[in-house]
Amino acid sequence: MADPPGLPPGAAHELSLQFPAGRVLMDPDGLGAYASDDTPRSVTPGVVVLPESAEEVAAAVRTAYRHRVAVVARGGGTGNVGGALPLPGALVVSFERLNRILAVEPANRTMRVQPGATNQAVQEAATEHGLFWPPDPGSAAYCQVGGNIAMNAAGPGAVKRGVTRDWVLGLEAVVGTGEVLRTGTRTTKGVVGYDLTRLLVGSEGTLGLVTEATLRLTPRPAAKRTARACFDSVEAAGATVERIMAGSTVPSALEFMDRLAIDALRQGGFGEDLPAGTGAVLMVEADGSPEGVAAEFAALTERLEGAGLLELSTGASDEEIAELWRARKSLSRAVKAIGPLKINEDVVVPVTALAGFIARLEEFARKFDLPIVNFGHAGNGNLHVNLMVHPDDADEMARAHACLDHVFDAVLELGGTLSGEHGVGSEKAPFVHRELDATSRELHRRIKDAFDPRGILNPGKGF
Ligand SMILES: Cc1cc2nc3c(=O)[nH]c(=O)nc-3n(C[C@H](O)[C@H](O)[C@H](O)COP(=O)(O)OP(=O)(O)OC[C@H]3O[C@@H](n4cnc5c(N)ncnc54)[C@H](O)[C@@H]3O)c2cc1C
Repeated sequence: MADPPGLPPGAAHELSLQFPAGRVLMDPDGLGAYASDDTPRSVTPGVVVLPESAEEVAAAVRTAYRHRVAVVARGGGTGNVGGALPLPGALVVSFERLNRILAVEPANRTMRVQPGATNQAVQEAATEHGLFWPPDPGSAAYCQVGGNIAMNAAGPGAVKRGVTRDWVLGLEAVVGTGEVLRTGTRTTKGVVGYDLTRLLVGSEGTLGLVTEATLRLTPRPAAKRTARACFDSVEAAGATVERIMAGSTVPSALEFMDRLAIDALRQGGFGEDLPAGTGAVLMVEADGSPEGVAAEFAALTERLEGAGLLELSTGASDEEIAELWRARKSLSRAVKAIGPLKINEDVVVPVTALAGFIARLEEFARKFDLPIVNFGHAGNGNLHVNLMVHPDDADEMARAHACLDHVFDAVLELGGTLSGEHGVGSEKAPFVHRELDATSRELHRRIKDAFDPRGILNPGKGF
């Protein structure tokens, strides 16, 4: 057989002996579906394999190790930093067929799952037992557990329950030599050895390919209450976020939208019920038992009262809650009217720096003459900073890149971090040195070397 472009002689032939026809793809038509993720770029890989077992993953990586072929793990392809973007001639290992829920053990509060199961499939299996897995990315219907683990994904619920890393007990993974590594435990306590599980979570496919995970589950809250609070200014909303986070009641969501986001909603016909003069909106939620949630919600809404509050609306039934969230959930669609391409950053600053940071962003918007729409997970200080641009306008794109530079510097000056949930991938890799000092980078390099001595796992991504 002819070797596909970019692959060393013999590598493709070896893979075709390991995988039956139909599960090893080399023709350009078949490869196209694996060429991109949610970034606006695309790179055709050399070959794609669709393993159905950890042994098949290990065999493919051993072949890649022998032939020094780059290996890119692929989940649902929803990542927005280019983590799953192939390299020319790379081997893509797609986990779509390794997607079974292996066991749900309610008494142990655990689930064993293969990495290709979607986040939604995990939630459905847990719900049957009155449980859930807290990581709640907006892409739940399409993204896979393996992708959530690799990117340490999270969503609005992180303010109360943390991120993917907090809900993974143990992993099976194939490292860069093709050896199978088992980390962590299947129990909810365990302190033996270094915490390789937490190291693998968030490693973006650069240390190992996850082939099985033991997830920690928690009871699904029986009740929920939601508030939507409209403020006259970002300063008033920022002060409110600080008041809430300094209090003893932790909300199950504390989300924020700024004035430009509200304008976009209005233009899109979604924000008609927001009062005139609204400069910022907070969405606040409490969940738990029906008795507990009422008291918690009362404590949270008390903290919403204060200078600058224009309107407070609350809901308890599913319909009322959905109506309150309607504007926030329409935001991604609405902002498209401002610019066809959204450069979507997900930086984090300390909660106490949030309002000051948004004031800096408004300065940058004026300086670089760009619309910047801000919304996000205020309780974690995690802000989606969206530079709305026209990709065909070279001058505007140059201004956007110069602006991003300033945004990242401001984040780090304020004691923040460049990514709260999307990860580094190829998009943010050029900026990582600003956040990680030389000692940290050298340790990263040695850790990478220990897991992946030939540097074949997702090269150029992450760190
Ligand atoms: C509409 C939309 C909404 C989103 N909302 C959120 C959000 O609220 N919160 C959030 O955190 N993210 C969000 N994201 C980003 C994205 O969904 C997450 O990063 C998600 O975790 C990626 O999962 P995936 O299966 O699609 O992974 P992919 O995009 O396929 O891959 C992502 C990375 O994981 C690696 N990977 C995949 N599977 C494995 C494996 N088995 N072993 C090792 N490495 C692996 C890949 O190599 C790559 O580096 C959103 C994206 C979209 C498009």
